[in-house]
This record gives sequence, structure tokens and C-alpha cells, in this order.
Amino acid sequence: MNKQVLEGLNKQLNMEFASAYVYLAMSSYYESIDLEGFSEWFKVKAHEEMFHAMKIYTYIGDRRGKRDLTEIPLAVKTWKSPQVAAEDAYKHECKVSASIHNVMDIARQHKDHSTEAFLHWFVMEQIEEEAEADRILQKVKMVADNPGGLFMLDNYMMERAKVDAANIGKDAESEEE
Ligand code: MG
Repeated sequence: MNKQVLEGLNKQLNMEFASAYVYLAMSSYYESIDLEGFSEWFKVKAHEEMFHAMKIYTYIGDRRGKRDLTEIPLAVKTWKSPQVAAEDAYKHECKVSASIHNVMDIARQHKDHSTEAFLHWFVMEQIEEEAEADRILQKVKMVADNPGGLFMLDNYMMERAKVDAANIGKDAESEEE
């Protein structure tokens, strides 16, 4: 595999693990303010990021590339409010999308069709990831200073966490069939 393509993939591999770390920290934060639904949902998100990382991990090996597992940067540990944490989650997903697009550009530059096809899944996945994070942020904004609303939203997040947990990796499975 081309050196720059491999570098890009390794960077993305580490970023997916770092994302899992960020979402675990958010899960922990929400738990500390008794929003268990949000906490559970972010825990599921962390699992999903690990799944993304492992997808890249496997691909690098399949292409006989050398994996470069680096240190995972420390995640922010606390947030000023549920809204600020939700804003950060959305911003984080936008950052991940930009990073994937960058690796895609590198793959195209080097005419690495396999990596391009592989990354296609991630490009599509990020559309969902951004939309989902944004919808949650908008809902948190809606209930803003209404504790009753936040309580109800937290229950909704708990239900979503269950559905999302059951769906991790499902798209990938059907794609591989
Ligand atoms: Mg991801």
C-alpha cells in the first residue's frame, strides 16, 4: 500500500479509538449528573467507535499494511452543561468527517481504488453520524432550562441506546454478504 495512504488510514484508526474515548468521557459526565439515558447512549456510541476502529484495523491487515497504534489523547472529562457536551459531540463528528474526507482525497490522489471503496462506507456513515448528533443537540436545546423536558428526553435517549446497541455493525454485515 502507498505510504501516505497507509499513514492516513493509521491516523483514522487512532482517531476512531480516540472518539470512543471522548464518548466514554461524555457517558461518564452524563451519568454524574444523573442523565442515565444520555450516559447509556454515549456508552453505545463508544462501542460503535471501537467497531469503526476495528474495521480499519482489519482492512490495514488485509492489505498487508503495518498498523501504527499510537497513544490515545486524553479526553475532556467534564462539561458545563448537557448542552455544551452535546455541542461538543456534534463538533467532534464534523471533525471525524473532515478527517475521513482527507484520507479519501489521499487514496484518490494515489489511485488506490480499494481504499477508496473501503472508505466509502465511512463517508456514508458520517452523514448519519453528523445528522444524529445534530438532532440530539437540537433536542437538548429545545428543552434547555426545562428539567421536566430534560427528564423526558433522557428516557427517550435510553430507548434509543437500546435500539442503537442492537444495530452496531448491522449495515456492515449486510454489505459484506
Ligand atoms: Mg467513527
